[in-house]
Amino acid sequence: MSGRHEKEKGVNVQVLLRCRPFSEDELRSNAPQVITCNEYQREVAVSQNIAGKHIDRVFTFDKVFGPNAQQRDLYDQAVIPIVHEVLEGFNCTIFAYGQTGTGKTYTMEGEFKRAKTGPNGELPPEAGVIPRAVQQIFDTLEGQNAEYSVKVTFLELYNEEITDLLAPEELNRVSLEDKQKKQLPLMEDGKGGVLVRGLEEEIVTSANEIFTLLERGSSKRRTAETLLNKQSSRSHSLFSITIHIKEATPEGEELIKCGKLNLVDLAGSENISRSGAREVQFSLTVQGRAREAGEINKSLLTLGRVINALVEHLGHIPYRFAKHCFAVISMPMLVVLPSSINRVVFEIRDSKLTRLLRDSLGGRTKTCIIATVSPAVHCLEETLSTLDYAHRAK
Ligand code: ADP
Ligand code: MG
Repeated sequence: MSGRHEKEKGVNVQVLLRCRPFSEDELRSNAPQVITCNEYQREVAVSQNIAGKHIDRVFTFDKVFGPNAQQRDLYDQAVIPIVHEVLEGFNCTIFAYGQTGTGKTYTMEGEFKRAKTGPNGELPPEAGVIPRAVQQIFDTLEGQNAEYSVKVTFLELYNEEITDLLAPEELNRVSLEDKQKKQLPLMEDGKGGVLVRGLEEEIVTSANEIFTLLERGSSKRRTAETLLNKQSSRSHSLFSITIHIKEATPEGEELIKCGKLNLVDLAGSENISRSGAREVQFSLTVQGRAREAGEINKSLLTLGRVINALVEHLGHIPYRFAKHCFAVISMPMLVVLPSSINRVVFEIRDSKLTRLLRDSLGGRTKTCIIATVSPAVHCLEETLSTLDYAHRAK
């Protein structure tokens, strides 16, 4: 293989930046554009005068996708090699990270209904990472002469509580609400991994079956109204595909490859980077939300720390060890956290998102963070915070 291929194989954490186009509302109000994407240079420039202060900064990423980039561009350039790894028997994770309304769900899910016309039903241009990955996986498996099985899980993490998005009996409203309140416990599996007791694991035999599941799960995602966007989600969602492939070696021995792809749509980053004063105001007005902000903060903090550790090539991933937690102290999101290190250690230990992904971060795995931002001036504060986070995670 070429040197370039070799080099790409060695890169375990990639950070991409995607800037969505202006919305119709933003276009109508002539909102000035404050960020410029240079896909060729892989740079994002922010230039703006705010309250007499001039901001002029440039951030570099592994890849940059500007407002005109299509779903397919992002998939082809960033995700295809990751799915190849999964099909080779490795565990990989893709995160969407960014402010509510910047395109996390659009990027991860997009539109996943197939066109009704055509022999196999084409994916629409708006199909996001999940449907495209499912399609690539089945196209590859069906073209191979090997036995395989594919299992999917789809869960939501809200207030550090796990809800199964694929659980059946969602047909009538009452049971749907019951189901959403039902939490599933997270347990150690005794082999260094973690399992969610009672989580529905669906065995699927075709891409179409997954699309049906996805539709069901995605409509169940718990959403809550925020100041920014009615559709905004305060939960993380995790869609996992596990693939077992049985192959025969030339010597006639049986070889089983097991790979897993985790696709994570994180809660809105605005919940973690506001100033302390804002948090307090929030908790006074909407009490339930205060806890949510804390829990989201906790998960993202841990994640940032794990990614930091990965990038710094630590020998192992410090899920539980206090000595590495200083690495995170420099991250901007810590502004709203209490200063006590013990407290931070405690919070890190309890983050379910990181525990769920434990078998998929570090070692021979690939991690991709897709940071999403808005081009509009009214989002600038949050955009800078996302750029800082993603830039530093690199
Ligand atoms: P988030 O999940 O981050 O809150 P959404 O994915 O819901 O954000 O996106 C907010 C809105 O912007 C949606 O209407 C979505 O269709 C649109 N949108 C986001 N990214 C893009 C994009 N790259 N191209 C076109 N529309 C987009
Ligand atoms: Mg969303």
